[in-house]
Amino acid sequence: MVTVRSPLGLFQTDSLIGEEDRAIRDTVRRFVDERIRPELAEWYESGSIPARELARELGELGVLGMHLGGYGCAGTSATAYGLACLELEAGDSGLRSLVSVQGSLAMFAIHRWGSEEQKQEWLPRMAKGNAIGCFGLTESDFGSNPGGMRTRATRAGGDWVLNGNKMWITNGSVADVAVVWAQTDDKVRGFLVPAGTPGFSAQEIKKKLSLRASVTSELVLDEVRLPDSAMLPEARGLSGPLSCLNEARYGIVFGSLGAARDCLETAIAYAQERDIFDRKLASYQLTQAKLADMAVELGKGMLLALHLGRLKDAGLLQPEQVSLGKLNNVREAITIARECRTILAAAGITLEYPMMRHANNLESVLTYEGTSEIHQLVIGQALTGHSAFR
Ligand SMILES: Cc1cc2nc3c(=O)[nH]c(=O)nc-3n(C[C@H](O)[C@H](O)[C@H](O)COP(=O)(O)OP(=O)(O)OC[C@H]3O[C@@H](n4cnc5c(N)ncnc54)[C@H](O)[C@@H]3O)c2cc1C
Repeated sequence: MVTVRSPLGLFQTDSLIGEEDRAIRDTVRRFVDERIRPELAEWYESGSIPARELARELGELGVLGMHLGGYGCAGTSATAYGLACLELEAGDSGLRSLVSVQGSLAMFAIHRWGSEEQKQEWLPRMAKGNAIGCFGLTESDFGSNPGGMRTRATRAGGDWVLNGNKMWITNGSVADVAVVWAQTDDKVRGFLVPAGTPGFSAQEIKKKLSLRASVTSELVLDEVRLPDSAMLPEARGLSGPLSCLNEARYGIVFGSLGAARDCLETAIAYAQERDIFDRKLASYQLTQAKLADMAVELGKGMLLALHLGRLKDAGLLQPEQVSLGKLNNVREAITIARECRTILAAAGITLEYPMMRHANNLESVLTYEGTSEIHQLVIGQALTGHSAFR
């Protein structure tokens, strides 16, 4: 009897992961299997998630801002954070998005660019999941080119007044605090806008066919008056928001592989059970060729993710390397999800199985935190020295 191996077991990638990081990963995997998986189809179909309840449970699990230090954050390795993202996204990209936006975008922005008072006020609550954050950079006319943003903050005595709209903002209408980026006379600056501030509102975007188990919103800022202390003092220019995006992209390098792994494991199990022309589907060469090619891409993606994780832990990771990882791993993950769907054929289009849900989710993942094309341009610039963005 030949030993059947899991796709990542074939690569023995566990041998590259330290004991502590593996223990964290296993804890997150258990949480996803026991708490999240049974609910997913319902959340996805209804297009709603219990975000507040989930945030508190994720806070208890210790994954919110887990790779940040101090202020109630767990202070784990970047590799452990990546592995947690992988397990969360093996559940659903929406769940991983909730955690990414909270930890890598909103909390990271405050941790890296905020004042001591801002850190003390928000980070401990956000780490526990008692406060939710969102990150407002994109506008309806400015996604890939955030430098063109129209949202503006102007001085009014000692205060600031913000006007503008932000679009496609994850966690927007459930957030207690929005990190909003706005043009000022002194470059783009970041502001902490607490929910309930007069003139600030958030409207959930409905009718999505992707990331349905995630809250996506439009933010409206209409004469929102904030004290000077609401501005992130250390961020000046687009390097501020871009540094946060880089953190979130790193999580996606791992996370997307979780969705791919879930699809591939499901397809292998299905093919072992399904009888076609009196034989198991798994015994056909065409099926095995598909499975082999997908396992190769999943394993290569994992080796790349772990390499980038080690570089990040050593403080050596460069933004263009994160682009390499995001471009490759999301592109391969969506290809794997679609190919796995073909193995399940009709059954694959339902919510009984995860393929179509993951494939649809990965359409958003391909687009947010820099589209594939933007990452190609980042890599192209690194290779040639020429910027081809404009
Ligand atoms: C579900 C979801 C959640 C999101 N969450 C957030 C969030 O929390 N916060 C936030 O700020 N944003 C968020 N976004 C927005 C996301 O980051 C943007 O959608 C993304 O940056 C792309 O912008 P766009 O959709 O306006 O596309 P556009 O920028 O209009 O791009 C259209 C096409 O043009 C291509 N393109 C762009 N520039 C070039 C170029 N120079 N050369 C060639 N091709 C180019 C793009 O790759 C794309 O194919 C979210 C989006 C989604 C779908």
